[in-house]
Amino acid sequence: MHLDPFELHRPETIAETLALAGRLAPAFDYLAGGTDLLPNYKMHLNVRPHLIALDRVSELQEYTLDRIGAMVRLADLDRDPEIGRHYPALAEAVHGIATPLVRASGTVGGNLLVETRCFFFNQSYFWRASLGFCLKADGDRCHVVPQKEKCYATFSGDLAPSLMVLGASVEIAGPDGVRTIPLDAMYEADGDGIRRVRLRPGELVVAVHLPPAAQHLRSTYRKLRARPSYDFPELGVAVSLRRDGDRLAALDVAVGGLETYPRRFPAITEPALGQGLDPERIGALAQAIQAAVRPVHNTAYPPDYRKRMTGVFVRRALTDLWDRRGAS
Ligand SMILES: Cc1cc2nc3c(=O)[nH]c(=O)nc-3n(C[C@H](O)[C@H](O)[C@H](O)COP(=O)(O)OP(=O)(O)OC[C@H]3O[C@@H](n4cnc5c(N)ncnc54)[C@H](O)[C@@H]3O)c2cc1C
Ligand code: SF4
Repeated sequence: MHLDPFELHRPETIAETLALAGRLAPAFDYLAGGTDLLPNYKMHLNVRPHLIALDRVSELQEYTLDRIGAMVRLADLDRDPEIGRHYPALAEAVHGIATPLVRASGTVGGNLLVETRCFFFNQSYFWRASLGFCLKADGDRCHVVPQKEKCYATFSGDLAPSLMVLGASVEIAGPDGVRTIPLDAMYEADGDGIRRVRLRPGELVVAVHLPPAAQHLRSTYRKLRARPSYDFPELGVAVSLRRDGDRLAALDVAVGGLETYPRRFPAITEPALGQGLDPERIGALAQAIQAAVRPVHNTAYPPDYRKRMTGVFVRRALTDLWDRRGAS
């Protein structure tokens, strides 16, 4: 495997970055830590002739507890005790991403925009060529669900579910200015499964915002994977709640590693507000979320197992958070 030649551009401000993007679109990719993009390039997956590196754009590296720049490294979050104290789900998610080496280069923005994954996609060019490629790169059919003209590659980033249950929003800069949207609204839930985010051409993720209320939530992130030292999630479950006496004042659940996008379940969690959580209600919530998810067979573990483990993880997380002492 080798990298084909590309032209590297290294702007120093957001304004310069957007000007370059406007000139080069659609023949470029943004390059953050490169830990996802460059391995994909080596496998000749949707390679572009220009890369706009973001490492010199200091505005993207600004970091406070309520605004985390897109170029903040995962290792910086991992070693910050304030993250663990205020946002346990985020700390648990970051700590479980890849290896220390990958976390030293990998960034928050890159993790939120990590390419979706599939057995038939994350393979060398020759491997894919032997099957005639697939819809997501170079081909015209899907090997996972051949009856459909849609890609089912799995969203496998760990940060997104953990940030979603903390109420995160994302600041995006583009040719038309800056906009801030809820994090879950950035992901494409419908469509062809190939376009994975609702970013307009040239748009740049600038930062993640966390509301003050996030610091008063109990939260956790649970991850299922084959090798705990290294692998992408086969399932990631994030849960947050706030307890007001014997009643639920806030509840959010998000999952990743199952479908083409990370997903929340407001229609299931919101009716539970104002009530208490006993084992029966916890079981019903876990069962409803398990029933709602639709994994397909394109990662290491079978979909039925990942679906059942969704219910198990939600039940365990809700039980632990509801009983956790010393939190709101
Ligand atoms: C061995 C290995 C194990 C891994 N395990 C995990 C894991 O367990 N969990 C997990 O979540 N990930 C895992 N990853 C994937 C990856 O390393 C991380 O997701 C990492 O956070 C990606 O960040 P990056 O900065 O390297 O992104 P890059 O590779 O630089 O970019 C990823 C994508 O985001 C786009 N992009 C980056 N920044 C921006 C921005 N600011 N605005 C617009 N577009 C942008 C790029 O164009 C590219 O499409 C693993 C990778 C490896 C190599
Ligand atoms: S789900 Fe289908 S189209 Fe998508 S990457 Fe896998 S084989 Fe290709």
